[in-house]
Amino acid sequence: MVDYHLHTPRCCHAEGTPEEYLAEAERKGLREIGFADHFPLGLLDYVPRAQVTMNPDELWQYIKQIEALKGFSKKVDIKTGIEVDYLPGTEEKLAALLEEYSFDYVIGSIHFIEDWDFTHPFYAETYGDLDLNKLYRTYFELVWKLCRSGLFDIIGHIDVIKKFGYRPDGDLEPYWIETARVLKATGTCLELNTAGRDAPVNEFYPHKRLLEACFKSGVSVTMGSDAHGPLQVGRYFKEAVELLKTTGYKEVTVFEKRVMRSMPI
Ligand SMILES: [Zn+2]
Ligand SMILES: [Zn+2]
Repeated sequence: MVDYHLHTPRCCHAEGTPEEYLAEAERKGLREIGFADHFPLGLLDYVPRAQVTMNPDELWQYIKQIEALKGFSKKVDIKTGIEVDYLPGTEEKLAALLEEYSFDYVIGSIHFIEDWDFTHPFYAETYGDLDLNKLYRTYFELVWKLCRSGLFDIIGHIDVIKKFGYRPDGDLEPYWIETARVLKATGTCLELNTAGRDAPVNEFYPHKRLLEACFKSGVSVTMGSDAHGPLQVGRYFKEAVELLKTTGYKEVTVFEKRVMRSMPI
């Protein structure tokens, strides 16, 4: 199995060395892992209220460190990825930056709506003041824009807007159908991210119905634990693999130098 969403302490909210993450992956019998730490927001001229990414001058060190780890294990293949915040208006700048660095894959994620880090527990109470129907509309429009930017191989934790358990009352099916359609049309790979099981919402990203819609639309899938500590590597993967299989998936997607390939589950 593959775990393509591992962080490092460089982002200031994770712990453990990459070697410790690798040791845990070996222990859990994973075949492939990829580090995807938070891309420096400073390079996109964005300053969040709390520091949640590595500093710009650390990016090369990060890449070197992970590249040096490749071949370190006989059991686990290692990939160098990155998780980049999708911020509308930064597409051109980001495209130029991604040309400069060589990644195996790029995860696009949404953590910010304007200057609100809606994934951060510090700012979760803001949800209570909002019209959730409007909020979901805004969030999913960002998801579709992210995919259409063509900058990302994978979309991270696709429905993370549910993280703290706030959901509109209405039927979300139209969002799932449109999202699956956009992923397929743009060739964006879906991430089954297991971290949501440890969040207040207590379910994987994406919602089961969204995963089903993606399968029906022929969207490719990969897996990520979003580990911010070594013990979280491969968390709930047994359950996640079962879910993929019952949904109909027979393979997951892996990347090398941004070229995708399938691996049987
Ligand atoms: Zn993080
Ligand atoms: Zn994230």
